Amino acid sequence: MGEYSDFRSDTVTRPTENMRKAMAEAVVGDDVLGDDPTVQELESLAAEKMGKEAALFVPSGTMANSIAIKAWTRELDEVIVEERAHLYNMESTHMTFIARVLPRPIPSNRGAMDPEEVEKNIRKPSVHIPRTSLICVENTHNNWSGAVVPMENLEAIRKIANNHDIKIHFDGARIFNASAASGIPVKEYAAIGDSIMFCLSKGLSAPVGSLLTGPKEFIDFARRVRKALGGGMRQVGVLAAPGIIALTEMVDRLNEDHKRAKKLALDIAELPGISLNPDHVQTNIIIFGFNHPKISIPEFLTKLKDRKILALATSEGRIRFVTHKDINDKDIEKAVSAFREILG
Ligand SMILES: *Cc1c(COP(=O)(O)O)cnc(C)c1O
Repeated sequence: MGEYSDFRSDTVTRPTENMRKAMAEAVVGDDVLGDDPTVQELESLAAEKMGKEAALFVPSGTMANSIAIKAWTRELDEVIVEERAHLYNMESTHMTFIARVLPRPIPSNRGAMDPEEVEKNIRKPSVHIPRTSLICVENTHNNWSGAVVPMENLEAIRKIANNHDIKIHFDGARIFNASAASGIPVKEYAAIGDSIMFCLSKGLSAPVGSLLTGPKEFIDFARRVRKALGGGMRQVGVLAAPGIIALTEMVDRLNEDHKRAKKLALDIAELPGISLNPDHVQTNIIIFGFNHPKISIPEFLTKLKDRKILALATSEGRIRFVTHKDINDKDIEKAVSAFREILG
């Protein structure tokens, strides 16, 4: 992309020098046969960081979520999800396609579901209705502009799950962003979930991959599901190696992304056509409403592109900017000037 400032997603990052080097030098084996030492190292590291017994390296966050839901449920079950959750809206219907369960979406306050509302939606056992077997939570919450869901809220939901003997799967695609923003250790968040997944390929800047973590028995079964989905990979240590760098070298810089996102949000919030509360930008995702008397969203995005700035439209008349390793202070200045020029 050269001179483009690419705000479309934190998935657009290029691997660091150290990642490239680690890929070239990775010791590999056949991971499906269980003998790729680099994958094993990454999985141990992930399990340890999350405080879980075991971990599984998978090609994508979507596969991590689909395997988790498949492993915690059976047909005729229902799963409580937040209505804007990524795993419910953005993952091509795997809940019905793979796990064959019913999602039950619940509204929220910026990603935090009302615990009473969650409890009310747990189904009483009956021959007529599905059994509630799983609650899914997400933090940071992508579609709520990267909101950090408060710990007290997650703890209240955990309590309800315990009372009803229901599992929790935690979509922690950006759990390290949540931890960086709140100061709460990743392990404390992870303890909310019976399982938690996180992405290496987002803010942590690795080229590929996510980790699903949880109890050993769950991960053993998850490994079988991964194979059944065609996600068993062979000398995949070449991809695990940059993942190890992501976990050891790329976590501490996430607050830089958050500061830049906040700066951009503050500088554009008052411009004509934009509806944005900068207080809502807690991490690296800025989602704002766009309704300008003269310019449509596609026209605005084209004008930005003419100025070498890339961003994406989301649903419901909104635009999304995401900061990441390959966005620096100059990119922010460039974006702010472009906004002022086009809208101001
Ligand atoms: C990106 C994302 C995923 C899925 O990850 P992919 O690697 O793109 O499949 C899941 N959950 C959330 C919250 C995400 O942002």
